[in-house]
Amino acid sequence: MPVDLPDFSAFLPEHAARLSDLIRGPEWQAALADESNIARLRESVIAAPDMPDPAGVLVGALKQVNEADVRARIAGGDRDVDALAWRLGEWPDEWTNEPPVLSFVGVYLTLDCNARPKCVYCNQLPVDGCLPMEEWGRLVSELIQGDGQKPYFSYTGGEPLTCGDALYGPEGLIRQAATAGAPSNINTNAFDLTLEVALKIVHAGAARLHVSLDTPDPEVMDELAGGTGRFDLITRGLYNLQVARELLGVNHPVVHINCVLTTRSIFEYPKLVGFLLDRKRVATPGVEGPPRADPHFRDLGIHLIPVGGPQNADIRPTADDYERFFTRTWEAASDVWETYQDARGTEDEARVDYDNYAFFANPYKRVEYRGELRDYCEAVAESTQSTLALGKRCLVAPTQAFFLPDGCQHWCGGHGVSRPEPMGHRSTGSAQGSIASSLSSLRQYPNEFCTGCPVATLFINQGAENALNETVKGWIEEADSPPATPEPPPT
Ligand code: SF4
Repeated sequence: MPVDLPDFSAFLPEHAARLSDLIRGPEWQAALADESNIARLRESVIAAPDMPDPAGVLVGALKQVNEADVRARIAGGDRDVDALAWRLGEWPDEWTNEPPVLSFVGVYLTLDCNARPKCVYCNQLPVDGCLPMEEWGRLVSELIQGDGQKPYFSYTGGEPLTCGDALYGPEGLIRQAATAGAPSNINTNAFDLTLEVALKIVHAGAARLHVSLDTPDPEVMDELAGGTGRFDLITRGLYNLQVARELLGVNHPVVHINCVLTTRSIFEYPKLVGFLLDRKRVATPGVEGPPRADPHFRDLGIHLIPVGGPQNADIRPTADDYERFFTRTWEAASDVWETYQDARGTEDEARVDYDNYAFFANPYKRVEYRGELRDYCEAVAESTQSTLALGKRCLVAPTQAFFLPDGCQHWCGGHGVSRPEPMGHRSTGSAQGSIASSLSSLRQYPNEFCTGCPVATLFINQGAENALNETVKGWIEEADSPPATPEPPPT
């Protein structure tokens, strides 16, 4: 049977023409020559599983151990919401119940990278050795538990695509997790996102792909990514992925763009927004309703990552640069978005403002920081902005695990970079066992190792603090509600 080629009509005409040219080119035609291959992939493609709710998982685990005590205090007359929420959020030093459910597992699969020379801002610290991929397969098996725990696995590096089929092939980690109902993500520079790799990633059921792209200016991107032609490799990889999704008839993986803010790219952000909007799907055929109901609504959305690392002082924006960025540049990006909505003829009631569209993208707006914008800008210029958003304790760490290539286990991705003593190792027991037996050491955090606490983690911590407060308020309301009067018996 000949393969039905996608018409790409769900994209803007210019990009549809670009994708059509790509699929008619020799590389894709060679891949399509074996029609049975595409048909077989279509039949056996796995749908990407849903993401877990990290704050929900966290509050559920804490209720397991503390609900009875907090409810007893409420029954005894305690109405101090803050103190009760604090008590509800206390991880015990000794864990006697089932181990806490994990919602996130990050793995640095390798520090090997196909970028030689490296990206100019690369700040990877070396590690001693690298576990074989089979060990990470055992980790995935260990951490997916029947109908219960299905964490979000995120693979990074180095460049994870250098791990090949062991990551994204038919027997690889992504498919292993997706078959068992757990979503996976790959952080990639996309240099090796050939059409063959793109088809395999989609076929395996990857839920997310985070692709590094800082600017739509090819020359600047080549300079930042360490070599001529890299911008073309990245964009070619993105387009291959788009074609692969269309060919296999699925909406996964959702692609997010990791954009590192440096002096070379920071004020080009509105152009990057426009570049990506021109290349995203305008609509998914068959999906009715407002734009945000479309599974591709936030595809090609951007995560902004202020450049870190002591060696990057020469490309780190100043506090004034950041202030300009989070005001005038952000407004200019909003204008690009509004123009895009105008051009699509988006009705008033279906419109979404840019802050909402890009809510996960903006590290300043996604999380609450102490102080004003200027305080944030001064801190971000020093790479200490997380300290303005950290709470008095770390709630989230016991529901996640983070591994370095050598098998060392850390509480989180932030510690994978700042490297305090690891709290476990693959060779010394299960990941959850290491967490359960290390809970007392969690009391020392946040501390100086947490200045790089990732925005996503800060977001979960702040969400969990709010959820604990709301839970306590609900229990107080329940306790204060008069018991329901029984219905009188029918006469
Ligand atoms: S960096 Fe510190 S506060 Fe943030 S998740 Fe890790 S341990 Fe918790």
